[in-house]
Amino acid sequence: MGQDIPFGCSCGAMRGVLRDITPRSGGHLRCYCEDCRAAAVWAGDENVGGTGVHYYQTTPDKYDFTTGWPDVKVFQWKKGRLLRWYAPCCGATLVNTLDSPKWAFASINTARFDDPNALGPAKTYAFKPMPNGKSKTVGFSHFIIGFIRRTIWARISGGWRKTPFFDDHGLAISSIQTLNAQDRATVPQDPRS
Ligand SMILES: [Zn+2]
Ligand SMILES: [Zn+2]
Repeated sequence: MGQDIPFGCSCGAMRGVLRDITPRSGGHLRCYCEDCRAAAVWAGDENVGGTGVHYYQTTPDKYDFTTGWPDVKVFQWKKGRLLRWYAPCCGATLVNTLDSPKWAFASINTARFDDPNALGPAKTYAFKPMPNGKSKTVGFSHFIIGFIRRTIWARISGGWRKTPFFDDHGLAISSIQTLNAQDRATVPQDPRS
């Protein structure tokens, strides 16, 4: 048996547990991309500025939402991008998924964990800003190998069907809001840019 990792939104109305987490269950990633920062601010979450958002990416069957889950909302920062699930009670961003349950991954913002350090430091850094003004992704091969192994295994085993994010027809359980340019313009620009 692995570890159970409790999590919740900032106000506590929405709660859940990641079940049976072992070192092979997922990958820990820190993403510095502007979409992650801006999308969180739009939802009402903390503005992380240049420090990046920490995610733990695992399979959807690990998620056990215990309180408040039917109230969840979901949006795309731009059409065709990740689904970003959040708690409308307090604006806390929770989980990112793709728009089909067949891609069996779900990345939770580790700031939501009761113990944000439950998984130790991130091994992968996505779009990390470098001193020359460009950005670099570090440790990605480690991350992508785990992602492929978990996602393919979920597809073969049928484990992808066990998901709290989609119904039996493969539709998101909450209607997806796709933000337009006006919505995005409400978020102040990153002070870095
Ligand atoms: Zn809340
Ligand atoms: Zn990102």
